[in-house]
Amino acid sequence: TTWDQAAFAADLNGIRAYDDEKYLAARSHDYFWYSPILNEELKDLRGEFLVMPQTLDEVKHVASLVARHRVPLTLRGGGTGNYGQCVPLEGGVIMDLTRLDKVIEIKPGHVSVQAGARISRLDDAVRETGQELLMYPSTRQMATIGGFLAGGSGGIGSLRHGMLRDPGNVTHVKVVTVEPEPQIIELHGDEIQKVQHAYGTNGIVVEIGLALTEATDWVHTAALFDGYDKALEFATRAQGEGFDCYLLTAVERRFAPYYKKFGDLFPDDRDAIFAMVAPGEMARFQAEAERMGGRISFAMTKPEIRKTGLQPAYECGWNHTTLQALKVDKGWTYLQVAYPRPFDPQLVVRQMARYGDELFWHHEMARMDGEIQIFALPLVRYRGKEETYELIREFEEIDGCTIFDPHVVTIEDGGMKEIDDTQIAFKKLADPYGLMNPGKTRGWSADMARAD
Ligand code: FAD
Repeated sequence: TTWDQAAFAADLNGIRAYDDEKYLAARSHDYFWYSPILNEELKDLRGEFLVMPQTLDEVKHVASLVARHRVPLTLRGGGTGNYGQCVPLEGGVIMDLTRLDKVIEIKPGHVSVQAGARISRLDDAVRETGQELLMYPSTRQMATIGGFLAGGSGGIGSLRHGMLRDPGNVTHVKVVTVEPEPQIIELHGDEIQKVQHAYGTNGIVVEIGLALTEATDWVHTAALFDGYDKALEFATRAQGEGFDCYLLTAVERRFAPYYKKFGDLFPDDRDAIFAMVAPGEMARFQAEAERMGGRISFAMTKPEIRKTGLQPAYECGWNHTTLQALKVDKGWTYLQVAYPRPFDPQLVVRQMARYGDELFWHHEMARMDGEIQIFALPLVRYRGKEETYELIREFEEIDGCTIFDPHVVTIEDGGMKEIDDTQIAFKKLADPYGLMNPGKTRGWSADMARAD
């Protein structure tokens, strides 16, 4: 490396730091190993120095040091991203933000929180005021709110409240710039797009304002159907009829062996809808499932779920489904598929026939730009890189689906497709030397960096 690590360490003024191999190895990785392609590319990469600031002042001090020493900086929250977002491609400093975790203020309809707070703790805190978060990833236990903003997109709750980027969901962010004299920039409203899903390439998010909604004691439930098409049909109808659900996930029967804890509650001769349903809607939900030939296999509050040792419904959907499968069978990888609107369950039936045992299916119901949007994160039997890209082409060309490629490290290749000019313009301001998470955006080249 070309930077003076000892001098950097000496300048830290007592900020917590680590440089032993064990810490560095653990904090240099995320869940990229879902992709054999990324695993090959990223598994040996390491940061060279880990810092864990406890306060905003310490974050600013690190930002200033990084700029003065001109060393690459990779931010890290819970490290649960799937695309190697917090893998340092060029070594340098890793800043773990999980100690910057204060809930600053909870008001009716709104919370301000430091970016390193774990989402589960944040949700617990707002629940004490009779409110809840609009959405969270299925990794809520580990993931931080800053990592969700910078690396995620939506998840549990998105059916009710849309994606993270939809207007009003995030109200403000405060960003620390990486300069010798770091500044704090506050973004509001649509300006938040400048840092949303920017993979920590354009400023250190230190504070986030989020809209809240009145808490609901969601019923965690599963409805079982004799046929995946029937399950999808039910899910589509449930949406059409406006059932109040926080989560609605269709999981086909071939996943049953990966959901062993559920035993007869998810047998391998039935396809499941895992859902979080408002208590007042449960009777209607059940009646509609039964009308379509299905049955409710369980319905429990979250404390009841915990008592039985089962997973909450939100750990039965989104990318947790992939995790359950990978725990049992390492031969899987996955894709992220967005379906054309309006959704046609028969398209899925055709896809299932086309791919047989090569792909296993589950579908996530969400809302995007105010409309119903169906995503799939199918398990894909890994056959090689070329085969993976052939599959992606088929989805796009035959089915008209959009693929968010989880086998690449840059923002643009991962599905944003185009370079986001406003994010790059903001990078010039927030990271003028181009030190943040180098290699993760195609929109930045070395000659754009400030030369002084
Ligand atoms: P990290 O992985 O630590 O960081 C993610 C990115 O954000 C990195 O580029 C990092 O540099 C940057 N970053 C972190 N903190 C900051 C900060 N303060 N300022 C600026 N940049 C920062 N994602 C979803 O959107 N929806 C899901 O439903 C979902 N389900 C998942 C299920 C599983 C099993 C797994 C493994 C992943 C899933 N993910 C999902 C991806 C991921 O868990 C989430 O996006 C999560 O919110 C990331 O938070 P984190 O704190 O772990 O971020």
